[in-house]
Amino acid sequence: MSFADEILKYPAEQIHEQMANTRGLRVEQALDAERLTPQDYLALLSPAALDYLEPMAQRAHQVTRQRFGNIIQLYTPLYLSNECSNGCKYCGFNASNKIPRATLTFDQIEKEAQIIHDYGFRAILLLTGEHSKMDDNSYLAQAVERIKPLFSSISIEVYPMDTDGYQKMVAAGVDGLTLYQETYAPVLYEQLHPYGKKRDYRYRLEAPDRAGEAGLRRIGVGALLGLGPFESEAFYTGLHAYYLAHRYWRSHVSISFPRIRPADGGFAPINPVNDKQLVQAVCASRLLIPDAALFLSTRESSQFRDSLMPLGITHMSAGSCTAPGGHADEGKNKEQFVIDDDRSPEQMSEVIRAKGYEAVWKDWDTAFLNASSM
Ligand code: SF4
Repeated sequence: MSFADEILKYPAEQIHEQMANTRGLRVEQALDAERLTPQDYLALLSPAALDYLEPMAQRAHQVTRQRFGNIIQLYTPLYLSNECSNGCKYCGFNASNKIPRATLTFDQIEKEAQIIHDYGFRAILLLTGEHSKMDDNSYLAQAVERIKPLFSSISIEVYPMDTDGYQKMVAAGVDGLTLYQETYAPVLYEQLHPYGKKRDYRYRLEAPDRAGEAGLRRIGVGALLGLGPFESEAFYTGLHAYYLAHRYWRSHVSISFPRIRPADGGFAPINPVNDKQLVQAVCASRLLIPDAALFLSTRESSQFRDSLMPLGITHMSAGSCTAPGGHADEGKNKEQFVIDDDRSPEQMSEVIRAKGYEAVWKDWDTAFLNASSM
């Protein structure tokens, strides 16, 4: 039994019908619930709940303060490679795009990592495309080994692996995984992934289960917002995190809210997600899983990121560059997509402080982790 089985209990047509039939009274009941069920969560994501954004935001703020205090954790991505064999239609790195390709050498990785370390970051997210160079996971494991001395937390946002692969990552020093399903709608998934290994919907959907079995400390999920219908994508994302939090209780779950950004290939959102809906998804996720880490990346504008800060977001990226080697050699390689919030890590930290929060650059200590697992 995996999430691929769990999701079958909630057919998309039923979700959409229930949401369309949700009325204000049901939203109020969900808002009053001590512990939310998936059905309460569904009510909070319904169109009717858009009239309740203010009380939802207030509750989300209150719950976040109780659980996380006044901190916002900062992290930054490091793109290792833009080589990819997949044809994801929404991505600038897709194999059909004729762009210069690069996979960083270990020396180049260390140089990038050092720059990121010198900004002050102690939490880093490594990203790659899916390419035969990565097949046995050794490249990634060696990259992690190489930069481990510089960071207290290393996460990966890469192709899905089997359980052995995830175990290899844990052994190398990875503590976190982020894996977007992109869309939870199987037919749309097939259309958007015309070729390459990523075409296998189920293999990707079950990857967080395998990561949980392998003992990854932190597991993050998300849908690429703008692909499938907002309501069902947001519902399945939360359901996925809720399932993982209960099933792999030793791992800490997180949810990300990436909205489609311009990329090479000119892909336009199929179901655009507006700001109000994104706020709704953030608040509803916080209320469904009070302990979940909620991530917001530099895909969003600075003003919007600032306004979301008090509503439940706990992790924000800063100083992002979506091109491999982009910190040391700016402009040399192609970006995966264009970022919106281009404030420096220092500026970001000042804004966080001005809003009454504390910017945290370090996630946790390996020593603490090792001690707590003894
Ligand atoms: S989304 Fe990932 S797998 Fe798909 S083309 Fe882009 S880099 Fe490759």
